[in-house]
Amino acid sequence: MAGKVGVLALQGAFREHCRALADVGVEAVEVRQAGELAGLEGLVIPGGESTTMSKLMVAYGLEAPIRELHAAGAPLFGTCAGMILAARDAVDGLPDQRYLGLIDIVVRRNAFGRQVASFEAALALAGDPEPLTGVFIRAPWIESAGDGVQVLAEHGGHAVAAQQGSVLVTAFHPELTGDRRLHRRFAEMVERARGAVAA
Ligand code: GLN
Repeated sequence: MAGKVGVLALQGAFREHCRALADVGVEAVEVRQAGELAGLEGLVIPGGESTTMSKLMVAYGLEAPIRELHAAGAPLFGTCAGMILAARDAVDGLPDQRYLGLIDIVVRRNAFGRQVASFEAALALAGDPEPLTGVFIRAPWIESAGDGVQVLAEHGGHAVAAQQGSVLVTAFHPELTGDRRLHRRFAEMVERARGAVAA
């Protein structure tokens, strides 16, 4: 199985991701400083509050090192606020919000409505006959996606999960259910990326 994967632990639902990764046989380490990214084979950016996470990412000097880790071939998994950070842009972002631009999507924050719009929905996952329960918490959706992006799930006509190369994103929180299919998918991406580097 895959090796050591980091979970950005500035804020938000990082512990649950560590647990989910452990369930699929991946050693997860919490990342708060740039030095802790060294040697990682993948990175999860969890849900939380994208504006806060963005500020902390800049304050802790993590932006460039995360980009470098991705450029070096390490897969990235962004959920909810993490999807917003990984995106190219947001239609309704705040002026000082940073986007890592690691996946060619434009997102809409709090797209399903603000506090009220936390809900669960059964999602059809591309290529999988079994529906998946998506937990949406003030979730964004993918407003538009570039040609290179594969949409993996939609809700109400909006893309809510996607992949482009080594970047996987979901608008919902897969770490909050016991269903480990998306973490397993990410673990496989990490495993493949490691094979590519070793080859
Ligand atoms: N609404 C939050 C944001 O814009 C995301 C919510 C979440 O990650 N659960 O950052």
